[in-house]
Amino acid sequence: MNGNLMIKSIVENDMCIGCGMCAAQCKSDAIKMKMNKFGFYTANVDDSYAINEDIINVCPFNPNPNDKLKTENEIAKIFLNQANKQHIKIGRYINTYAGYSNKNRLTSSSGGIATYTLTELMRRGDIQHVISVKAGSNSVHYKYTVSSSVDELASAAKTRYYPVTLADALKIAMKLDGKIAIVGVACFIKAIRLAQVHDPIFNDKIGFLIGIICGGVKSAFFSEYLSSKSGVSAYEFAQPEFRIKDISSTASDYSYGCLDKDKNQRTIKMRSVGDMWGTGLFKANACDYCDDVTTELADLSLGDAWLEPYIKDGRGTNVIVSRSLLADEIIKTGIKNGDLVIDELSEQQFLSSQQGSFNHRHDGLGFRIKSGKTISSIIPEKRFDDVKLTPLPKIVQILRMRTREKSLISWLNTKNAKAFDSEMELSLFFLRFFTKINHYQRAVIRRIKGF
Ligand SMILES: Cc1cc2nc3c(=O)[nH]c(=O)nc-3n(C[C@H](O)[C@H](O)[C@H](O)COP(=O)(O)OP(=O)(O)OC[C@H]3O[C@@H](n4cnc5c(N)ncnc54)[C@H](O)[C@@H]3O)c2cc1C
Repeated sequence: MNGNLMIKSIVENDMCIGCGMCAAQCKSDAIKMKMNKFGFYTANVDDSYAINEDIINVCPFNPNPNDKLKTENEIAKIFLNQANKQHIKIGRYINTYAGYSNKNRLTSSSGGIATYTLTELMRRGDIQHVISVKAGSNSVHYKYTVSSSVDELASAAKTRYYPVTLADALKIAMKLDGKIAIVGVACFIKAIRLAQVHDPIFNDKIGFLIGIICGGVKSAFFSEYLSSKSGVSAYEFAQPEFRIKDISSTASDYSYGCLDKDKNQRTIKMRSVGDMWGTGLFKANACDYCDDVTTELADLSLGDAWLEPYIKDGRGTNVIVSRSLLADEIIKTGIKNGDLVIDELSEQQFLSSQQGSFNHRHDGLGFRIKSGKTISSIIPEKRFDDVKLTPLPKIVQILRMRTREKSLISWLNTKNAKAFDSEMELSLFFLRFFTKINHYQRAVIRRIKGF
């Protein structure tokens, strides 16, 4: 199959995550990243060019990867050989921590370790440019942007649950002198590692990767829906803010906010909207076939410390996995000079901070593959696909897949939170009902087994 057909087949089967690595690596303008009608970036191929089939080698969802690059395990062996520990679910690593940056915590999503680390890398001269996510023009809201100074970096803090693509920023950064650090979710980090394997110039330029632990990439519909929920039309909102902290409450009690057409900020507490993550609402299909919960291929992986006692603190705390010596040194130096407040975490504590994601992404993976929702020939080889589910979790998986798909179609048709909620009511009711009894069943089994 030629490159044109390969890319088209990944896009048509909803397995393109929009990272844009194929467009960035393509020497011509034959591949352009465009947002599709469901609010996701996908690769658009211009058939007047013949795209070399090798282009598929940088796709994180390439269904037929080379044996030496089959899964995250093989790729980690190439890049993370300084890591002295290994765990089947965490990957190769040096240390696991929880903590925050004194300076960056309040202006960041969790503990501000991402912004702190990027600033330190730049200040120390380890890297000269950062590719991270900043505000874009009005209709784009957020996009990957190159920062080449510490001052420019400041506006790139905070998590944006909004589709972004790397292609344009990568093309710009590759023309600059000096090393680059990139922040990305697991599939984007995998695409970068694959490009490093296949392109020595690219390998030379990349100095550091920060992995954002990700529970699923959201469509642009997510912010349209939340804006509508907060009382602003889906067509008229600006500057969506996904993680407005309530420092007098718990870490998970954050709000969404946006500006209305008169530039007044409207906010809504996320807990009043209901579960946006476990239900799979507005999530990309490809995320259901990703088994990398902890961004196993980054130098430093960062997430939210969804565990006691950190979850009680509304100012936010990161979980941290260091995987390269440079990453670990930055954390240890920060602790020593008082910039960072950090505890060491056990493997078990770290794992429990992402338990929900492991349950869905690992335990449900084999069933989702077998369900045939996505044709198996387009799904790359996966780890963790041999877990056998009992009937109840199988029902939850089926309902989640349906809810995810229905949410995208419903929002496309309604573009209004009230109408959407009414269309989704029954699906969400059954999903919540079966999820609840599934949790109850799991708790009973745990009690019987004594753990
Ligand atoms: C789509 C998504 C899903 C997530 N799901 C989970 C989860 O399930 N569990 C969990 O523990 N944590 C999750 N997170 C991560 C968490 O929200 C924080 O981003 C992370 O803890 C880093 O916090 P920080 O305070 O160190 O980052 P900050 O200092 O606030 O910096 C955030 C960095 O991330 C970059 N960034 C923002 N948006 C994006 C984006 N869309 N893609 C790539 N980079 C971006 C920013 O440019 C900045 O460099 C998710 C993040 C995203 C973007």
